Amino acid sequence: MLLDYVATVGLGIFCYLADALMDVSFIRQNTILRAITDNAAHGIIAAWSWAIAIGLSINWKTASEIFLCFICSSGLDVDHFIAARSIKLKDALALNRRPFLHATSLILFLFFVTVIVVRYMPLSVYHKMKYLPYIFLAASLSHHFRDGYRRGLWFAPFGSSRPLPYTLYVSLTMVLPWILIYLMWITESERKIKKSKILLNV
Ligand SMILES: [Zn+2]
Repeated sequence: MLLDYVATVGLGIFCYLADALMDVSFIRQNTILRAITDNAAHGIIAAWSWAIAIGLSINWKTASEIFLCFICSSGLDVDHFIAARSIKLKDALALNRRPFLHATSLILFLFFVTVIVVRYMPLSVYHKMKYLPYIFLAASLSHHFRDGYRRGLWFAPFGSSRPLPYTLYVSLTMVLPWILIYLMWITESERKIKKSKILLNV
């Protein structure tokens, strides 16, 4: 448990370091290098968050989940290219509206729908897929929080919040894995209660 807390503090420190790195002049002045650094930071923060959410237990299965979380978070910005209908970084960065995967409301909606869908799947499928909605949530929300300190959170169709204060963005990032642990615990307990009720009725 102590290691989980240390990793959470480490996650917060990493957020500061990643943003400090973005401010280094040769990275700031190079668009491609800036995009790569920003993308890698999104991916590492998401992967780190998921590692904490699964109690830092590393094996082949959890390592693939951590990698998936990294890919989802750094890949989230692909919507800039889809919205710009171009594969050029210049066009993707020149977008004058926020692309769809950056709508926090859409992500939360998709999360709840997938949790419900996975929950009612046969037990064998459920055990294989039960963490996917949470990996998706960790990847997306950690990405949104980080973007949020520059542009705020976007709750389409209602509008956007103001840019998040920097300490709030770091705090939300540090709290996210613990919220995921709680949400996974609730879903697991509910599923167990439901299963035991079925067994009792047999
Ligand atoms: Zn983004």
